[in-house]
Amino acid sequence: MLAPSQAAGRDSLRDSVRRLWPLMRPHRRRLTAGGVCIVIYVLCWPLLAALAGRLIPAIGAGDLATTLQAVLLALLVFLVQKAAQFGQDTLLAGPALGVSRTLRQQLFARLQRLEFASLDKLSAGDLTYRLTEDADRVGEVIYKTIQDTTPSALQLLAVLGYMLWLDWPLALATLLLAPLVALLVSAFGARVMTAAEQSQRQVSELAGLLAEAIAGLPLVRAYAAEAWLQRRFDAEVEQHRRARYRTLRLLALQHPVVGFLEAGGILTVLLIGAWRIQTGQLDAQGFSSYVAALLMLIDPIAHLTTNFNELQQGQASLQRLRAIEREPVEPPDHPGASDLGAVRGELVLEAIAFGYDPGQPVLNGLDLRVEPGQVVALVGPSGAGKSTLFSLLLRFNVAQRGRVLLDGRDLADLRAAELRRAVALVPQQSQVFSGTVAEAIAFGRPATPEQIQRAARLANADGFIEALPSGYGSRVEERGRNFSGGQLQRLAIARAVLGDPALLLLDEATSALDAEAEDAVQRGLSQAMAGRTVLVIAHRLATVQQAERIVVLAGGRIVEQGSHNQLMAHGGRYRDLCRRQFIQLES
Ligand code: ADP
Repeated sequence: MLAPSQAAGRDSLRDSVRRLWPLMRPHRRRLTAGGVCIVIYVLCWPLLAALAGRLIPAIGAGDLATTLQAVLLALLVFLVQKAAQFGQDTLLAGPALGVSRTLRQQLFARLQRLEFASLDKLSAGDLTYRLTEDADRVGEVIYKTIQDTTPSALQLLAVLGYMLWLDWPLALATLLLAPLVALLVSAFGARVMTAAEQSQRQVSELAGLLAEAIAGLPLVRAYAAEAWLQRRFDAEVEQHRRARYRTLRLLALQHPVVGFLEAGGILTVLLIGAWRIQTGQLDAQGFSSYVAALLMLIDPIAHLTTNFNELQQGQASLQRLRAIEREPVEPPDHPGASDLGAVRGELVLEAIAFGYDPGQPVLNGLDLRVEPGQVVALVGPSGAGKSTLFSLLLRFNVAQRGRVLLDGRDLADLRAAELRRAVALVPQQSQVFSGTVAEAIAFGRPATPEQIQRAARLANADGFIEALPSGYGSRVEERGRNFSGGQLQRLAIARAVLGDPALLLLDEATSALDAEAEDAVQRGLSQAMAGRTVLVIAHRLATVQQAERIVVLAGGRIVEQGSHNQLMAHGGRYRDLCRRQFIQLES
């Protein structure tokens, strides 16, 4: 969740319009055509009121000819009006949907570039809620605003104008009632907005808890913590119910109050009208038109009231979307950032200091030099900063002090995309995206089938892929659930070597595979590592024994380095670690 202080910078309507207007601009032509339809639709209302003024006295007088004439004319006007309404609704739906689509696309693009610190702060459930529910609500409000609020507001103006023209003193008297209604509506609106915000926050907290709970269900069951989780969930749901109830109660109160005021207003106007006729300033036809016009005000006022509430809720949603936009993104490449060219894979870290919280350094004065083609195993207790070191090499984070040099070039001076082509990560949890096997290996990069097959061969994945019914065209399901752990690891290795990276970062999986799968993965790894500089966060004895150099991280710096045998003989931290960590794993 975002801290409330960040959400507090409440956007005004003008800010929202300013944010959304550029998204509407490409749809100018349809918006204009829709606008013309709106104008035709709106102008039909005073015409209909005038016809009602002719019709009602004619009916009263039993004048069939005038009645028929007025009815036919009214039918014609209705026909034109409804056609215009159809035009308006269809013409404006496109731009409205287009705006919400673009907004969602822009937000997702932003999400992909957010700093990792921001991503950590926003839970996945909350972000999902924002990009689905909040984005939907904003889309609906945009549609409502241009397709319903605008015509309603214009109808109000056109009909009021007509009433003023008919009998301005009567119209002014009517208008005196309007501010009273308006005041009430806006006072309610503000309270509804606050209540809606609170209830949306509650929903997104609920979504966050649900996402966490669903991911953790096995764990919950394993600890028999169902009752505890249920209590937490129940409390969250109850809070959500209360927040929703507050909003609904406010809405429920609003309709009767506004409705009563309207009725009282109309009755008062009837009284004044009777007095105007009695004093001879208005005739029956004029008064009939006036009453018809007055009735035509009710609908747009009702629409404007509901839409105003929805607009406020939509604003709350837009604000929550904009909070994502306010989170910092990865800084862009320097203006002078250059390409790498061919990379040999020499890696030098000079006096690196880094902490997520600058007051608490995770790495502190770390120096390391790795020759091209060397395999270095990183070991150290959990929390020593091994993964953090990887994040610096991928420039996910930037060191507060010191430099990282790849082939003598400071990482900060390289284009990020270029750097990440030269450095490939095989993460601990081999997440593979859904799609075909070939797509999972290519991962968005242009690659020929031969290149994909070569990568799979290197990763020792070709055997099982070719045995699949559709080979490289077989589907990988969401989260790779139709593949075994060892197969997923080999797919992840293939994905890493496809771009022929000079530097390979391996984070060994801690969960043990069975011996056969382990063997297959190990063979894939060995082939993938050949000819590359490799840094591996090692959890297995076999891996450290294979490494040319083992680097022991502790207290933010390197405390020992050497080969397995040297370090064992030395009898320092490494030997302790080995005893505690690897021997357990291997047994
Ligand atoms: P290792 O990989 O050696 O287990 P990490 O690099 O994951 O260690 O973590 C080093 C330290 O940095 C730990 O104290 C950890 O709590 C902290 N840390 C790791 N990631 C983050 C993060 N995204 N935000 C804040 N602190 C973090």
